[in-house]
Order: sequence, then C-alpha cells, then structure tokens
Amino acid sequence: MMTAGERSAGLAAIADEVRACQRCRLAQARTHAVPGEGSPDTEVVFVGEGPGSNEDQQGRPFVGAAGSLLDELIGAIGWRRSDVFITNVVKCRPPGNRDPEPDEIAACAPFLRRQLEALDPALVVTLGRFSLGTFMPGARISQAHGTVRPVDPATGARAARAFAMYHPAAALRQGALKEAMRDDMSRVPAALIASREARAALPPTPEETQPVPDLPDLLDATESLATLDTLAPLEVLGGARDQTPENDQMRLF
Ligand code: URA
Repeated sequence: MMTAGERSAGLAAIADEVRACQRCRLAQARTHAVPGEGSPDTEVVFVGEGPGSNEDQQGRPFVGAAGSLLDELIGAIGWRRSDVFITNVVKCRPPGNRDPEPDEIAACAPFLRRQLEALDPALVVTLGRFSLGTFMPGARISQAHGTVRPVDPATGARAARAFAMYHPAAALRQGALKEAMRDDMSRVPAALIASREARAALPPTPEETQPVPDLPDLLDATESLATLDTLAPLEVLGGARDQTPENDQMRLF
C-alpha cells in the first residue's frame, strides 16, 4: 500500500506528464490539459468524459455548468468535491466538444490507469457513456445508471466497484435526468460502504500482510467497524484512508 506522500507525488508526476503530453491530436488544439484534481487520500474517484471549454481554459475538471451541477449533487450527500478525486477519460478537450475518438481514448488510457493505481479507490463513479464504456464495457447508460459492478483490475483500480451515473451535461440538456442523477447520487455512500466491505474481505496483498495485532488493537478496530452503519455520509467518506496505525487496522477488517 502506498503512503499518502507517495500517492500525492505519484499523482503530481502523472499530472506533469499529462500537461506535456503530445500522444494524440487533441494536444494540438488544447489551451490546457486537464489531468484531474482532488484528494489523494480518497476512496472515491469520479470519471467524466473529457474537458469542455471552461476546463480547457482553466486546466481543471468540471468547472463549467456541468461542474456546478456535479458540485451540487456531491454536496447533496454531504460531501465536498475536495473529498473525492475528479478526472476524465481523455485529458484534453475534443474540439467543439465532439465525442472523443477511440484512438484518443486509447492514447490517454495509461494516464487514467496510473491515476487509479495510485489512488487505489474503492468506488469509481462513472459520469456518462464514455466513462461507462471504460468501467462497465457493454452496459447501456439508460439501464446501468444507479447500479454497481466490479471493476476489471486492468483499468488500474485493483479492487473497486464502478457505480454508473448519467453525465451532468446530459442532465442539463434533459431536465428529467436531473432527478435520476439526484436519486443515483443518494446511493453512492452505501455503494462505497459495500465496496469497502468487499475489499476488506479480500486476502491481504503481500504489502498489507502485517504482524497479528495485540488484543487491545483488535478490540478498538471491531468497535470502529460496529459504528459504520450509523455514520452520516460525510463521515463515511471522511473516515476513509487515514494514515494512523490505528485506522490502518480498521481498514484491515
Ligand atoms: N465534462 C466532462 O466530461 N468533463 C469535464 O471535466 C467537464 C465537462
């Protein structure tokens, strides 16, 4: 398991590479590449499609109208965007906001894979069709939204579930989807808890194998777990990856 410092440094190095990237034609038309941003300690990664014009201007993901809606939806479950990590399938704006081409997605895929390897999230929330295609290949957004599926570790997320949502820009175009997005978002905290529990049931990786803890440590950890169901949504996320040895014990259960 990486330390918080290693995760931050890894993400910063990937972001530098993204900003210098010339791997596909999107590099020529961009103002700024948009590597993604958020908490390096989060368990939840939101993955959109690609930067739009505001994002291209600012070099930050989801800062236009779709971003405002995303912020509002995240706020509605008691989280802040700084609690999660937000990125995109392609890191440069497709001209005129056209769909990204398959070869552009393929050229950018190693960046997303490496971000997910560094973050090791429990939950990947997909926003829209292109993100859905990456994490739930073959699924249709109209049927898949609001549902979870295990993520293929080849994506970089070694032990995660994907939770599918519509793209906020689609909800801005079709008002009816906004309600569906609110409803789907309200299920995200429970999806995180379920995924966290599934991860905890996995055999430990070699790096996670630690000496058997003393009895008092075991009792502390069991107590912490017993309170999980009663936590408010923000606490569900905020109680995530803490670097103290006590909380590392909690993650083992
Ligand atoms: N739409 C996306 O898919 N990503 C962004 O960053 C902004 C709008």
